[in-house]
Amino acid sequence: MAQRRTEADVLSRVALTVFEPSDELGTGVTYGPKSGDRTLTITPMREVLPSGVLGDFGAWLTRSPERGLLGETSGAEVDPVGARYLPRRVVGRFLKERVARAVAALGKMGVAVEHRRKAILKVRPAAGGVRVFDGAAYAEFDAVVLMNGTPKSPHGSGLADSLQASDHYISDLYSPGIDQNVNRILSRCRRAGGTTVVAIGTNASSVEAGYLLADAIQSGLVRFHAVSASGRWPAILGAKCRPPFGVSDVAQPTSGMALRRRPLLTQDERVRSVHACLARGDLDAALEVYRSIATALDGASHQARDDAINFVLPAVVDAIRRVGGPYAERLSVLSDCGLLRTTAGVVESISGSRDGYPLLLRLEDGSGIEADFVIDAAGWGGMRRNNNLAAELLSAFEKMEVSPGGRGLRVSPDFMAEERILVFGPLLAGMNTAEHRLWHLESTANIYRLADPVASAFVKLVATL
Ligand SMILES: Cc1cc2nc3c(=O)[nH]c(=O)nc-3n(C[C@H](O)[C@H](O)[C@H](O)COP(=O)(O)OP(=O)(O)OC[C@H]3O[C@@H](n4cnc5c(N)ncnc54)[C@H](O)[C@@H]3O)c2cc1C
Repeated sequence: MAQRRTEADVLSRVALTVFEPSDELGTGVTYGPKSGDRTLTITPMREVLPSGVLGDFGAWLTRSPERGLLGETSGAEVDPVGARYLPRRVVGRFLKERVARAVAALGKMGVAVEHRRKAILKVRPAAGGVRVFDGAAYAEFDAVVLMNGTPKSPHGSGLADSLQASDHYISDLYSPGIDQNVNRILSRCRRAGGTTVVAIGTNASSVEAGYLLADAIQSGLVRFHAVSASGRWPAILGAKCRPPFGVSDVAQPTSGMALRRRPLLTQDERVRSVHACLARGDLDAALEVYRSIATALDGASHQARDDAINFVLPAVVDAIRRVGGPYAERLSVLSDCGLLRTTAGVVESISGSRDGYPLLLRLEDGSGIEADFVIDAAGWGGMRRNNNLAAELLSAFEKMEVSPGGRGLRVSPDFMAEERILVFGPLLAGMNTAEHRLWHLESTANIYRLADPVASAFVKLVATL
């Protein structure tokens, strides 16, 4: 009670300014309007929201006009909400209402919240504070909480700088929105009687593009080809998992990122067993081994944990990616018909092509792939590859560092990357403290779970200002 009063006292001195270019607070790109109405959660709802919040979501859904999504649920069905893959916009509507309620509650505590519909382009140290630049003006604050997700650079992976204005190069599938981009491909396809789409990446965004284009792919109008370092789609749950979907060598550098070789850990028996399970197509066994590596961190030295968190576990997570529900149903049909073509390779450049196709992708091995459209779905290449706000900060703040694996910022046990800069969300990847070991913070449920410790760190920070 006394602690809660102290927190309330501290918070009553706070005014929050949220810089968010979208009109919606709390939905981000994944659950916001840019994701359209047809995209689904990639994981079942029980992996999207932690159990307490999932219960609230279920209750909200049964009251909402979208309750039909639950279908006829008989009393025998144990987990009617948690087992489903639901439209992400529905989850977004729920999150938006929760955030609005939280903002109202803060208002009652005397905490003003202002939403500025602007993106921050720069953050700079200032005497006794921090200055932020929104493209038009600087504003000064006491502290900044960096929670800009895993933002891609507006120039995609930077492979096609000269093609930014090309109608054929989609540097970000969600900008201005996934539906606009898919419709652009389909209308060209109708005009030309067919089109070739090459996606860079075989992860979530590529899966979404394949799903939304599935009818046109199945009818042969769209030829869909994905290129990634692994050349593997996520394991399609429900369908028979068959090779190749294993990793060949976790220590291999991917996407040009110079990963250090760690013989000690890459030769680790457990990592080798993951490879063996994956080669057999036994995803459940691979997941079990993954969990055992995560558990083994407890007894490991700080250095061994740093290596496992930054290099081994991310590679294993990548290897055991899964996709289920309606995505799996559609993609497995396409896959079985040989219509989901993949190539393992690293794209080096994308340029305009003179012969027939508008675009030409050059791979590191010297081969080329021609395309009518390129979707840059390479995702988050980490701090060193993507030109984004968090990377921009590094040049301005002396003590700020990238976490060893390059996917996030190095933070203190209080989630601080610098004196007045607190970090939350996927940029915490690589955090290695006694309490928090994070090789991956992209699952929404895990982000939720970490909200309380980050909020406490925020109150602690404010109390010192
Ligand atoms: C296609 C796709 C499907 C996914 N499916 C699932 C799933 O099924 N289950 C699951 O658990 N996770 C899923 N994820 C991952 C998960 O949704 C994200 O990791 C999570 O939303 C991250 O939350 P966040 O609040 O940290 O960042 P985000 O939700 O990305 O929000 C970041 C916000 O910061 C804003 N922003 C960015 N840069 C700036 C700037 N410079 N200035 C001001 N504002 C800025 C953005 O506009 C955005 O609103 C998926 C991700 C993708 C891309």
